[in-house]
Amino acid sequence: MQLSIKNVSKTYSNNVEALKDVTLELGNGMFGLLGPNGAGKSTLMRTIAGLQELDSGSITVGDIDVSKHKHELRKVLGYLPQEFGLYPKVNALELFDHLATMKGITDSKERDELTKSLLSQTNLWKYRNRKLGTFSGGMKQRFGIAQALIGEPKLIIVDEPTAGLDPTERNRFHNLLSAIGENVIVILSTHIVEDVSDLCSKMAIIKDGKVKLVGEPLTLVKDLKAQVWTGLVTKKDFKNVKNDHQVISSKLSMGKVQIRVLNDQEPIDGFKQVDPEIEDLYFATINELDLKEKI
Ligand code: ADP
Repeated sequence: MQLSIKNVSKTYSNNVEALKDVTLELGNGMFGLLGPNGAGKSTLMRTIAGLQELDSGSITVGDIDVSKHKHELRKVLGYLPQEFGLYPKVNALELFDHLATMKGITDSKERDELTKSLLSQTNLWKYRNRKLGTFSGGMKQRFGIAQALIGEPKLIIVDEPTAGLDPTERNRFHNLLSAIGENVIVILSTHIVEDVSDLCSKMAIIKDGKVKLVGEPLTLVKDLKAQVWTGLVTKKDFKNVKNDHQVISSKLSMGKVQIRVLNDQEPIDGFKQVDPEIEDLYFATINELDLKEKI
């Protein structure tokens, strides 16, 4: 299955241009869409899911045109939205059964089997009689994935799934996503770099509605080899250093500023060369550093 996003633009009624000429081609496997808040990720996810109209361009899933064939799209789509509302007073089994019915699984035996299988797969079977209001953030997200898997979707969209999860819950959720398999398209939208570095074999970085970089994380990072340097500067010097060097990222460390710099040679005396990470690629891209001839 192939997902083709071609020259898609979207401007909201308040004149915010949320997507600007976005073109992406995705095959089976996990694709990470990484970008800061407000980049346009949810807009793109909702548009792919057929929940929102695009102004121009086209999106096709296999031979389904998303704008024209919403009914066909729904049959192949599993969607976990950013805000996944759960009825707090209903238990997991009841809601799952309801959602499966809505998704067209009308045979009750088939529905029971599917419910058991998907709630087990997401490690929720033992909590099936618990009210959803008592679920932790991680359990809610796992329930969200379980419902997104109803009907054997070919395209699964998960929008910011790990925001608000603690490290253990995030890890468990990562394992679950990676187990979904290679035979479907999974788009994971996130502002968390580790989500992409842990899971995705392809990624795009999006900012201000534009795709800034697309590729395989490992290859892109390898291309940055020998170009990332780190060292400490004083807070006073930091401003000048920022003007004179391509500062990828900075953080306070023992009263000084620890910076990572993109450069071919030692940028400042005493700086050490370090292995590049996907985070460097991400910050260099969203801080608009000059990556062009480097990767
Ligand atoms: P992300 O998911 O990357 O945080 P969004 O797609 O939610 O980004 O938002 C992209 C931009 O569009 C932001 O500037 C946001 O404020 C704006 N936006 C999102 N939804 C709407 C809407 N329904 N109406 C108007 N502006 C919106």
